[in-house]
Amino acid sequence: MAAPAAIAIHGGAGIILRSSLTTEQEARYLDALRSIATAGNEVLAQGGSALDAVSLAVSLLEDCPLFNAGKGAVFTNAGTIEMDAAIMDGKTRRAGAVACIQHVRNPVRAARAVMEHSPHVLMVGKGAEEFLRQHGLQFEDHAYFYTEERYAQLQRARQESGVLLDHDAANLLNTSSKPASEPAPLDPDKKFGTVGAVALDVHGNLAAATSTGGMTNKLPGRVGDTPMLGAGCYADNQTTALSATGTGEAFMRSLALHDITAQMQYLGLSLEQAANSVVMDKLPLYEGQGGIIGIDRLGNIVLPFNTEGMYRAYQRVGEAAFAAIYAN
Ligand code: ASP
Repeated sequence: MAAPAAIAIHGGAGIILRSSLTTEQEARYLDALRSIATAGNEVLAQGGSALDAVSLAVSLLEDCPLFNAGKGAVFTNAGTIEMDAAIMDGKTRRAGAVACIQHVRNPVRAARAVMEHSPHVLMVGKGAEEFLRQHGLQFEDHAYFYTEERYAQLQRARQESGVLLDHDAANLLNTSSKPASEPAPLDPDKKFGTVGAVALDVHGNLAAATSTGGMTNKLPGRVGDTPMLGAGCYADNQTTALSATGTGEAFMRSLALHDITAQMQYLGLSLEQAANSVVMDKLPLYEGQGGIIGIDRLGNIVLPFNTEGMYRAYQRVGEAAFAAIYAN
């Protein structure tokens, strides 16, 4: 019998208050989330693999400038754009990742190339670039990735000399133009942005992928949780497929995603119980803010976050897409 195929995606978490987005902005985010979930779901509906579905969904999120990955990625404090990505196949438990790469149009495809065409898991630097050129990855110049909103975010972050997590870049612009008496729609210290997808295909296989520009105003060379298996991305057919967004350092120090799978495997917890315990109880012990998306082999989907909002969507084969931003 075919497994209950479904896909879930996220576009970052943070203090996303209703007042931080206009109705039009909100509609743009929701439309983008729904159409990308539907594109990934179409792959599953046609009997395609979970791996292909998450690759497609994350590459579309990377192409969409609303999200902090690929086009629209945030800037380092040197004005460069350095991206991280990972992908993992739950069936084989093979994985690929890239860190700190520049100019590659779709970092998730780079991660997949590492998984499929090298004996390695994580590649960085000049060697990664050469490898990716040899394998026909598409490269773009700096101008392709540049968006005015993210650059304005960087200027603001420089003024405030903070390191910012993503979605809030756009909100920083809004914040600066608001009267001082109005609360900031998004606390600039608590803004995250990364994209990710998890899927279960009709063959019963799980996969996960995550991609990010990291944090606004980060030091060049900083790498977050996104390309770290067990921290920002993880998939294992025995348990679940997971993708994270939030304060990368906390996800790395707590090995948040591996913790979820371990609780399922060793304590027999459900995905929902394990995910809630890590996101709501454990991450705060590490000052970790953000959220995760997960799907298990029965098709149960979870989308917990401990911030005010998380851009998120899911779709089951044969059903309509659901998308949401705020907690309620
Ligand atoms: N987790 C990402 C990082 O630390 C950022 C994010 O999710 O917004 O690079």
